[in-house]
Amino acid sequence: MKQGFMKGGSCLSNLVESFENVTCAVNNGEPEDVIYLDLQKAFDKVPHQRLLHKINVQMLPGCCVFLAFCFLTHPIVTIGFLALYSVCTELMGLVGMEGLRNHKENSEGKYISPFHDIPLYAVIDKALFNMVVEVPRWTNAKMEIATNIPLNPIKQDMKNGKMRYVANIFPHKGYIWNYGALPQTWEAPCHKDPHTDCAGDNDPIDVCDIGSRVCSCGEVIQVKVLGALALIDEGEMDWKIIAINLEDPEAQLFNDIGDVRKYKPGYLEATVNWFKLYKVPDGKPENQLGFNGEFKDQNFAIEVIKSTHEYWQSLICKKIDGGGISCKNVSIDDSPFCCSQEEVESIVLSAPKYVKSSSIPDDVDMWYFLSK
Ligand SMILES: [Mg+2]
Repeated sequence: MKQGFMKGGSCLSNLVESFENVTCAVNNGEPEDVIYLDLQKAFDKVPHQRLLHKINVQMLPGCCVFLAFCFLTHPIVTIGFLALYSVCTELMGLVGMEGLRNHKENSEGKYISPFHDIPLYAVIDKALFNMVVEVPRWTNAKMEIATNIPLNPIKQDMKNGKMRYVANIFPHKGYIWNYGALPQTWEAPCHKDPHTDCAGDNDPIDVCDIGSRVCSCGEVIQVKVLGALALIDEGEMDWKIIAINLEDPEAQLFNDIGDVRKYKPGYLEATVNWFKLYKVPDGKPENQLGFNGEFKDQNFAIEVIKSTHEYWQSLICKKIDGGGISCKNVSIDDSPFCCSQEEVESIVLSAPKYVKSSSIPDDVDMWYFLSK
């Protein structure tokens, strides 16, 4: 008997259905195998950090470690997190932990900031970077690293007191890539991009993963950078890095932006339109694009990333004032914001457990037909 989260089904109906199968088999005199997992001992009697460490060492996917972490620290939050993937949404602060890094040498189960403590480079001097997934493909909730909250949990953006969702622009549903951020980067508002003369949007640099797998919120994946699009979002410089999940079965085919055009025809054009139009349903004008909306190549994209990484280094070492950005971290030794594990634990313990739940509004499924 397996009780799991199945698409379109509630936990309860899955359970009832499973029981129905078992009782029918018993009625017919057929044998039925049952595996009973008693997790009480694990959850209640083993120190949580040790348990998380063990889960991590077993190389479970980052999302599983993350869910286990959420369950142990914020059980109510976890229910909301799971609900995000089934019926309704209950958004909350999710605090990152080291287990999400997928780096063996750092699997001690410590709390971290996904903004500051996950290394930018997956492999130094190659086009391989770590990416923190914020919004899984085909979803609408605008999840993002909260730069102004200590330890920068991933949470849903709020606007006018309401959870923020992006509109569906025909023919798309939600985001058309796994969307997220490169850790340890910062589009500094004090820096005007030399190409577009626009100041940075004050966030880590954004990434669109064009891989075929739909990732989950909070997952850390390794990506190969392919190019960049210069979005000017309400006058701010907002680079969109195009990348592919290294684990994608076709990843070796993609080595520069031209390969996207070749192997995923229409995707880049759709990406331009998506970014131009995504705020139009909210009554905002079309976004502008630098370089005439042309994608820059891999080398250019890597230079942009390097530059944003340098601004982040200035930020984390307090050479530039980041205003409201929380720079608390646990791994940057020369940062005045580096804190002890005790301090970090007290931050996590005192963090609000969840934001009041609300179901997804009906209009999130609306389709907008906009003329080009
Ligand atoms: Mg941005």
